[in-house]
Amino acid sequence: MKIGIIGAMREEITPLLEIFGKYEEFSLGGNRFYCISYKDSQIFIAYSKIGKVHSALTASSMILHFGCEKIIFSGVAGGLRSDLKVGDLMIATKLCQHDVDITAFGHPLGFIPESKVYVETDAELNDIARTVAKKHDTLLKEGIIASGDQFIASGQKKQWLIENFSADAVEMEGASVAVVCDLLNVPFCIFRSISDSADGEADVSFDEFLDSSARVSANFVKNMVDTLLNIGK
Ligand code: SAH
Repeated sequence: MKIGIIGAMREEITPLLEIFGKYEEFSLGGNRFYCISYKDSQIFIAYSKIGKVHSALTASSMILHFGCEKIIFSGVAGGLRSDLKVGDLMIATKLCQHDVDITAFGHPLGFIPESKVYVETDAELNDIARTVAKKHDTLLKEGIIASGDQFIASGQKKQWLIENFSADAVEMEGASVAVVCDLLNVPFCIFRSISDSADGEADVSFDEFLDSSARVSANFVKNMVDTLLNIGK
């Protein structure tokens, strides 16, 4: 099986490269793809660079060029729901693009014609994630993720995301990876560990917790990959 693991920033994939160890490197589209031979399978790891366009390119490359059959995103996010604290781990049930706005034409916020506001993550992969969480005694939260090309660091914008999208967490890449995987029929799941609360202190919190939260997500993703390969799905 070929599995693609994407992070947005170098810090989000560094723990995975440390865990897996030996890899081969390929360059494509301004990204480095780290290919690991593991348990009769291949794992491709890359960080896309920040934002929806970069992550869409990386997901497309993983699928169309490297032939990845599952995509897993591992990274950090701002928590919008009050129970999502720094270091908590969550999976996205569905994702939307909060910065899509053609409401001037009567469309709902986040909607693009011939597309949909929310893209759901793969039910089977999410079930496997729940099993892995149980096995490793990890609290795995779930929620809606809103993605956009903005770092959210204000109480007002946070409230707007909750009111308009019922979002539980915010980041800058998940929804674009979701759109690519959905359109190319590749099962995907999105793991995010909370680095900040998307409020006035978000930048300081992000800098302080990026590494530790990225590690929470990466460690879980390693267990997820092991389980996926064991059951051969
Ligand atoms: N400090 C970085 C910029 C980080 S942007 C620099 O100077 O280069 C934030 C990254 O973490 C994005 O990849 C995004 O997906 C995620 N993220 C974490 N908290 C976020 C928040 N509050 N709003 C939006 N994205 C957030």
